[in-house]
Amino acid sequence: MSSIDTLPPLRDVIDRHDLQARKSMGQNFLLDLNLTSKIARYAGTLDTHDVLEIGPGPGGLTRGLLANGARKVLAIEKDARCLPALQEIAEAYPGRLQLIEGDALDTDPLAHLTPPIRIASNLPYNVGTELLIRWLTPKQWPPYWDSLTLMFQREVAQRITAAPGSKAYGRLAILSQWRCDPQIVINLPPEAFSPPPKVSSAVVHFTALPEPRFPADFKTLERVVAMAFNQRRKMLRASLKGAAPDIEDRLIAAGLKPTERAEQISLEGFCALARELKKT
Ligand code: SAM
Repeated sequence: MSSIDTLPPLRDVIDRHDLQARKSMGQNFLLDLNLTSKIARYAGTLDTHDVLEIGPGPGGLTRGLLANGARKVLAIEKDARCLPALQEIAEAYPGRLQLIEGDALDTDPLAHLTPPIRIASNLPYNVGTELLIRWLTPKQWPPYWDSLTLMFQREVAQRITAAPGSKAYGRLAILSQWRCDPQIVINLPPEAFSPPPKVSSAVVHFTALPEPRFPADFKTLERVVAMAFNQRRKMLRASLKGAAPDIEDRLIAAGLKPTERAEQISLEGFCALARELKKT
């Protein structure tokens, strides 16, 4: 069952407010309210949570989140042209939609949100990965959010959920899977958007785990994973030469073969190596 409001169709809203999509702002709008409602439902229970949305645009997902009962939505939008259209949604849901005009990269949303918090966004592709990395690497874990439900280019979604042995497996998979459970929940063709982008998209739902899957010092893990994948075709004993003078022994002590390559190493293996390297 989908929840749809009685506000005007998005095409009318876009025409009335003259919201022609701008490439420079990463604007590809979702106009199907059944679809935005479906994305909102994948975000999980909303009536108990505040929701942070980056880049509401004309408000398709915002309306999905509110129609599905979000306790409050904080929406941060850089394009001032969208604000009057979003204000109409705020009036239809008194006290439940707070709008901030600004750049999500420079705005601290926490001052405006009450836990528990979810994040749900059809992200602007130009800042999507940067925002994701910020959300995945907070100073403290568990993070301030319980879940992320985010639209990405399909290729990025595949890198997030990739398993060892695949081409897509790399730093983003390790970072995403170490402390979260990320799942692709919806695949979308370019035609789902207006205007259609050149590539397909996918929604990824991340649940924050209470603690990392395997113990490791974050900085050491990040460093070793970066070194290993920067030269992903090389054997670990070569790509990680700079990590420790006795790297071959460390690899063996961590249960890894020095002749293996980065993309063959599981998350558990990288965590074991990070622990081994942390020993003086
Ligand atoms: N959520 C809308 C939808 O699903 O139809 C719009 C999604 S569109 C892909 C991305 C939105 O992010 C646009 O409205 C764009 O103006 C906004 N945006 C781009 N860069 C931004 C930034 N740095 N901070 C906040 N919003 C941004």
